[in-house]
Amino acid sequence: MTHVLMGLPFAADALEPYLSKETLQYHHGKHHATYVNNLNKLIIGTPFEQMSLESIIISATGAIFNNAAQVFNHDFYFSGLKNATTLPSDELIALFERDFGSTEAFKESFMGTALALFGSGWVWLSINSAGKLILEQHSNASNPLLAGYTPLLTCDVWEHAYYIDYRNARADYLEKWWTLVNWELVSNKLTALQP
Ligand code: MN
Repeated sequence: MTHVLMGLPFAADALEPYLSKETLQYHHGKHHATYVNNLNKLIIGTPFEQMSLESIIISATGAIFNNAAQVFNHDFYFSGLKNATTLPSDELIALFERDFGSTEAFKESFMGTALALFGSGWVWLSINSAGKLILEQHSNASNPLLAGYTPLLTCDVWEHAYYIDYRNARADYLEKWWTLVNWELVSNKLTALQP
């Protein structure tokens, strides 16, 4: 199958002033698009040509894994942003309280995890098969699909995600990113898992 660059769910300038149009144009239009194009070239003539993105991620290595995972990760990241204020559902808040103590404590853990990530990577909130929330940092292209977790939320902490707007100030980017999180979407992903 041919993989397609997702469209942004908002205009390129819709997240200003927190994420500029220039950042979105480079991050989505250049970085994300390059991962899609590279993946499509790399899978030609391989068994991966017939596989879904998720299947490629859990079975490939090297450049095919890196590009496939970066397509998935960026799809997840951009889908998870919204140019309006949203709030976590009561169900999600209850899980933050159970697994982290409070929503504020979850935020502090998330920010601490993102700031502590050395180099390029991602912070992921996932839920495991036992229903426990899992907060992790992943280097480079890695993601929670490899562990069999269901991802709920991610933040891109590669420098290309924030360098145009925030230069080296990762903490400032993280604080603004937090206000753009589409909590309705995260909450809906959680609800969809209920039996
Ligand atoms: Mn990125």
